[in-house]
Amino acid sequence: MQGFQWLRTGVLAALASGAAFAAAPAQAQGALVMYCGVQEEWCRAMSTAFERDTGIKVAMTRKSAGEIYAQLKAESANPRGDIWWGGTGDPHLQAAEEGLTFEYESPVNKDLHDWALSQWKAAQKRSVGIYAGALGFGYNTQQIKQKGLSEPKCWADLLDPKLKDDVQVADPNSSGTAYNLLATVVQLMGEEKGFDYLKKLHKNVSQYTKSGAAPAKAASLGETAVGIVFIHDAVVFAVQGDPIKAVAPCEGTGYEIGSMSIIKGARNLDNAKKFYDWALTPAAQALAAPAKSYQVPSNKNSTVPPQAPKMSEMKMIDYDFVKYGSSAERTRLLTKWDKEVKALPK
Ligand code: PLP
Repeated sequence: MQGFQWLRTGVLAALASGAAFAAAPAQAQGALVMYCGVQEEWCRAMSTAFERDTGIKVAMTRKSAGEIYAQLKAESANPRGDIWWGGTGDPHLQAAEEGLTFEYESPVNKDLHDWALSQWKAAQKRSVGIYAGALGFGYNTQQIKQKGLSEPKCWADLLDPKLKDDVQVADPNSSGTAYNLLATVVQLMGEEKGFDYLKKLHKNVSQYTKSGAAPAKAASLGETAVGIVFIHDAVVFAVQGDPIKAVAPCEGTGYEIGSMSIIKGARNLDNAKKFYDWALTPAAQALAAPAKSYQVPSNKNSTVPPQAPKMSEMKMIDYDFVKYGSSAERTRLLTKWDKEVKALPK
């Protein structure tokens, strides 16, 4: 990261001399407003390291992917954010299509995996892949035993009536994870059967959380028997010894290309580009695992954390990111889910 020392600007000196940085206009050199879509701990590690390496002061907010998309839309006449880092690729693609994000080609693109560049091409250069992770679920081994159930291995197992009010998953309007589930079952089972599955699952869902990873924590604590999450979000608790087991469903599953986009109208555009280039480096991507985030990083030279679920050993669907990240399809599916699934009595 030494290569970024040169980015240190006069802002550090200004801070050291006691200048009132907070009172400076938002476009003052040295600031970056970051909307962060991963877990809080990784968001903090990234913003702290970038500040340390560049002297650029980062104002970071953590939100779920659907919420960040909605915020960009609400702020489009007067953008307040500079960089949207992390979160599932679908809402990044929707934002790109709606012109809420900014075209950029990083010099680091040459080092990225094809899947990361596919996201960049699909987004007309307005978003790039930063990590990949597969969808699945985590179950509390003690709870499953107590209920006299055999270990769930498949999506179908989550419909067992013995799991009534004992499954948690997020709301797909706010959560990128839960939208990924919605798009995955539609692709895996077909739309009619997919919605039928979600309606049956609804009977077992105790609550639709706001954040996608929350059900993993709840399952690790035994507050729910099953949490539908990205598999790496369940692994976090398994590696610390909690009674939770992560599952790649037997029928096959979808995956995410976690993404990054520069916000159109960014007041600190140069700093957003600096962050973007920096965030794609192996040194920055290495901050994930110590922050307990075990995705597959997008730079070919980055080390894949040993805890990262092995996507090559799972049955994966050929997720159509272009279709399910399109504005029309994402809006249509979410409206249909609200009407036909969430509104159902239990
Ligand atoms: N946390 C991690 C570690 C993720 O990889 C992702 C997806 O990119 C999320 C959270 C998504 O969060 P949410 O479903 O709340 O949008």
